[in-house]
Amino acid sequence: MQPKPEFTSISPGNLVAVTEIDLGALAEIYDEMDIYLSIYMKSASTADLDASRSFVASRFRAMEKSLPSELRESFQKTVSLAQEAIESPSWKGERSRVILASSPESFLHVYRMGLEAEPLVVLDTSPFLLPLARLRDDYLDWGLLLLDSQEAKLFVIRSRIMEEMSRSSIDLMNKHKKGGWSQMRFDRLRKGAIKSFFTQVAEDLANLDNLQGMRGLVLAGPGEAKSQLKELLPPQARDRVLGLLDVPMGTVPSELVKMGDQVALDYERSVSKKRAEELKSNVLKGQLSSYGIDPVRDALTHGRVNTLVMLSDYVVPGWICEKCQHFQEGARPEICPQCGGRTSQVNVLEELYELAQRTGAEVEFVEEDEFLQSIGGVGAILRY
Ligand SMILES: [Zn+2]
Repeated sequence: MQPKPEFTSISPGNLVAVTEIDLGALAEIYDEMDIYLSIYMKSASTADLDASRSFVASRFRAMEKSLPSELRESFQKTVSLAQEAIESPSWKGERSRVILASSPESFLHVYRMGLEAEPLVVLDTSPFLLPLARLRDDYLDWGLLLLDSQEAKLFVIRSRIMEEMSRSSIDLMNKHKKGGWSQMRFDRLRKGAIKSFFTQVAEDLANLDNLQGMRGLVLAGPGEAKSQLKELLPPQARDRVLGLLDVPMGTVPSELVKMGDQVALDYERSVSKKRAEELKSNVLKGQLSSYGIDPVRDALTHGRVNTLVMLSDYVVPGWICEKCQHFQEGARPEICPQCGGRTSQVNVLEELYELAQRTGAEVEFVEEDEFLQSIGGVGAILRY
């Protein structure tokens, strides 16, 4: 499918969170020819950029040599289209840059991110999304509540970019002047005020609109406040707490993001481990599962897949028919046995990922798993 007109040129003027990139819409795009160039660059420093640029240039030279002559001109135009984005200097906080380009479609997307990505250049019938998909799996947005007994600040962290959502506080000394009160009465009032403050913060958290779409919440701050607050959360919000961080209120934001990211990432690893175990147990029991490239592809095509489980950083060499989009594992035939169309080499996992995106299946990337490795790096938990 061709990109929709409003989707042909996207180049945000600020760093983007990986969750802001419309992978669903990108996965819809494909052509019968290898006209989509996908470039991943490291761009944290001038040295990173220089190294990435020379890597990209050498990949371009190799590609141009191996291209059939009828594709060479469009390839050169696509390279020119991407050139400005490749050459442009690094922005503050930028760590990587993703450039998706196709001159025949006048298609150019440029995303600069605060996340790291390995340099990669792919020319294919569609934008190459696997590295973005993996980053998205690792860096879903998460919420951070920093609080003590008098002050609470709520942030949302999107791909290491910290946005403050709200802050609230109580002024215990002004509200409850010690005046002629006994110490005991003062303490009681103070405790009551803190409790109602926490209750208010808990309500704010439970009402946070996008909490459902997030990985979850990290509660941070000194002392007991965070565990007291956790107890006051309604169950569905409490279930979303990823972990607690014991830190002073004055902790610098970058440290908070770093520590919280680790909590969120550990949580994600435990979720993907669970998915891998669920897949294994289903396979061993012979129920609601599928593995091997062909059966998984067919299950995806029929919309039967609940979760596609794949090993991260895994490559399954195969081919796709540029005409009918049929793909499979193994050595590439000159022409497609189904329709006689032209074929090109692919990492089959990319095609499975795009199919999952198009058919609404969840995708879980797993770091390491012996069983998953033993069944070829990919499997599916089925709906029925
Ligand atoms: Zn075909």
